Formats: sequence, C-alpha cells, structure tokens
Amino acid sequence: MGNRLKIAIAGITGSIGTSAVNIIRNHSDRFQIVLASAHSNARGLLDLAREFKIENLVITNGVKLSTNSENKKIYRGHEELYKLIQETDFDIFLNAMPGSNGLLTSYHVLKAGKKLALANKESLVLAGHILTKMAKANNQPILPVDSEHSAIFQALGNHTREEIRQLYITASGGAFRSLPLEDFSQIKYKDAIQHPVWDMGVKVTIDSATMMNKGLECIEAKWLFDIEYDQITPVIHPNSIVHSMVEFIDGSILAQLSNPSMELPILYALTYPGRIESTNVKTNIFDLPPLTFSEVDYNRYPLFKLALEVARTGGLHPTIMNAANEAALELFAKEEISFLDIHSKVEGALNHFQNIADPDLDTILEFNKRAFDYTLRNN
Ligand code: NDP
Ligand code: MG
Repeated sequence: MGNRLKIAIAGITGSIGTSAVNIIRNHSDRFQIVLASAHSNARGLLDLAREFKIENLVITNGVKLSTNSENKKIYRGHEELYKLIQETDFDIFLNAMPGSNGLLTSYHVLKAGKKLALANKESLVLAGHILTKMAKANNQPILPVDSEHSAIFQALGNHTREEIRQLYITASGGAFRSLPLEDFSQIKYKDAIQHPVWDMGVKVTIDSATMMNKGLECIEAKWLFDIEYDQITPVIHPNSIVHSMVEFIDGSILAQLSNPSMELPILYALTYPGRIESTNVKTNIFDLPPLTFSEVDYNRYPLFKLALEVARTGGLHPTIMNAANEAALELFAKEEISFLDIHSKVEGALNHFQNIADPDLDTILEFNKRAFDYTLRNN
C-alpha cells in the first residue's frame, strides 16, 4: 500500500467527484485520497473522509459546521483550500468544481507545480492563455477529464499539432435536439435538467441543452491542443459512443469509442500515460446502434453560434460570456427568465462590456464578477 498515487479532489461530492470516488474504491491498492473539498455537503464529505481516511478536508462555502462528531479538522473557504494545495503532499489534483469558481483552484495547483486533471472546463475558458503557459513551464500537460478532450488526447498520442488537419468534437445535442423549434419558448427548468445520455451536474446539463457547453469545449480544445478554431469541427452524434476524433494531415481519422461513462476519462487522466483495468467500462460493439453524425443546426442552438464567435474574438469576452451564462442559468432556475432569454442575457452582457485583449488574472476575476452581477441586476 506504500506507493499509492496520492489524489486530491475538489468537488468530491458532485457528479465527477462521485465517479472518481467509484474508481478509487475499486482500485484502493493503487489510489488514495489525501485532500478533498465539497461546497456545502458536509455530511457527504465526512462520510467519504471516514471511508477513505482523508486527512485534509475543506468546505468551500466557508460555513462552520454545527456538529462534527468525528472531531476532524475541517478547513473553510476557498483561501484555505489554496493554502492546502501549496502545503499538502499529493501527486495529482482532480478539479471537479463547477463553473468559474474552479479557476483559482486550477491556478493554485499549477502554481504549486503539480499535475492537474481538469474537469472544470471553465478554468480554460476564462484563463487558457495563463494556465497553459504555467503547465508548459511545469513541463506537464493539463490532463483533460472532459470526455471529448480525453478522446482527442488519447487519439493524438505523441503526434504534434502540425500533424493535425482537424478535430471533430462530438455532441449529443442535449435534451432538445429533436424538439420542434416553435416549442422552445415553452421549455421549463425541469425539462432542461434532463440529459438524454449523461447524468451530470445541473449547470453542465443545461449548458448541453443550449449547447453553450460545446462552445466552452471548443475554447477548451483550442487551449489544450494549441489549435486554431478553423480546425475544430463540432458534430452532432446522438449515440455518444464516439467521444471525439482527430483527423491527421495524411487523411487518417482516429476516434475513441466506449459506452458513455465519465469513469473512463477520469481513470485515463489518473493513470496517464499508462492504462489499468476498468471493472465498469465495457462496450459490446455488437450491441451498438448504428452510429450517426450530422452537422450542427445553429438555428436550434443560437447560443452555441454566439459562443463560437466569442471564442474567435478571445480576450476577456469568453469570461464575460461565461459569467453572463452562469447568472442567466440562476435566473432560469428561479423561473425569472425563459430558456430563450439565456441567449439574450449573454448577448446583452457582451454588448455592455468592452473586450480586453490578453487580460491578466486579476482583470479576469474582476470582470467575471462584474458581468455576473450585471446580468443578475439587469433583469
Ligand atoms: P456537480 O454540480 O455535480 O458537482 C460540483 C461539486 O463541486 C460538488 O462537490 C459541489 O459541492 C462543489 N461545488 C459546488 N459549488 C461550488 C463552489 N462555488 N465552489 C467550490 N465547489 C463547489 O458538477 P459536475 O461534477 O457535473 O461538474 C464539475 C465540473 O466538471 C464542471 O466544470 C463540469 O462542466 C465538468 N464536467 C462534468 C461532466 C459530468 O459528467 N458531470 C462531464 C464533463 C465535464 P456540494 O456537493 O457540497 O454542493
Ligand atoms: Mg464534455
């Protein structure tokens, strides 16, 4: 048990966190958890701490627990987490926080010179230009956990970006991929939080319905693989079996396939560059339905179209877009705006805030908050 990989997990009680915990439970001879955070689910965090004997625990919402029968020291707030990231001995950090809240965690992991397994795509949407430089200086790639990016990372192997013709990023099309367009104005929150394939956190599920998620993922791909947007082609693939593809300059297309399970990309990030046995991920290719691929209908997904324009513009605008989208989702959850209003909210914030090229971290954090507040206030 001496040489187990020491893993830290932010957002351990969420959907990605739970998949990671399942893997670690099944491979307790290889992996141990040495640091974990949850935002408010103290009960869940303490249960995991007991099961996995986790020494360093953080409740990021900062609230003091009224009872802690285990008498474990529990750190509170994001700042204490950042301190622990510098001080704790771990081999790899899985960032599974949701939304722009995850950015500073990624930043501190890279600042500590540690390996980052990244589920929190928003980190790269806001500060890809900063984080990829830090990873490069550490001489370690950021390990993608998002299934599409893991697929590309696996298909790429040791090939260089000069050998890539294009990346095909697959998308399920979300909850409303076949809803008649005239019904979109009637969409309710409870409909938007149902995903046809994946069981995920609320934000990423609604982002899949608008396909903002795919917009964020195109930006994520640009930074992870140092690629131009002209070389990124989104594809609707409702089966969610092909997780993405790389077309090389010689015309060869390599795809990564499996039944949909986030355990696969998480496991690969933990074991990279090796692979180990997965007890849960199995795909019987004879059971697969015919696999279909089609182009994106941007009339159905105007927010995705907008996100791709913002991606190309770059600078501060991806931060503004993401913050406005996060605020709009809060308003949509409270039924204060309609599903279609999410788009106009994001557009409104982009029109309000001027773009800034190559923003530094403080500027990003400041405008992230300002665009979020602006969107909530101007409702
Ligand atoms: P969930 O909402 O299921 O879980 C979020 C986790 O982070 C929980 O542990 C939660 O704690 C904690 N958390 C919530 N709010 C905050 C906050 N403000 N600060 C710090 N921690 C917080 O999210 P997912 O697991 O679905 O997603 C996590 C990230 O992974 C997202 O960036 C998402 O886009 C990405 N991702 C997710 C996929 C999936 O299949 N779920 C697929 C690909 C990417 P508590 O339980 O206490 O609230
Ligand atoms: Mg994804």
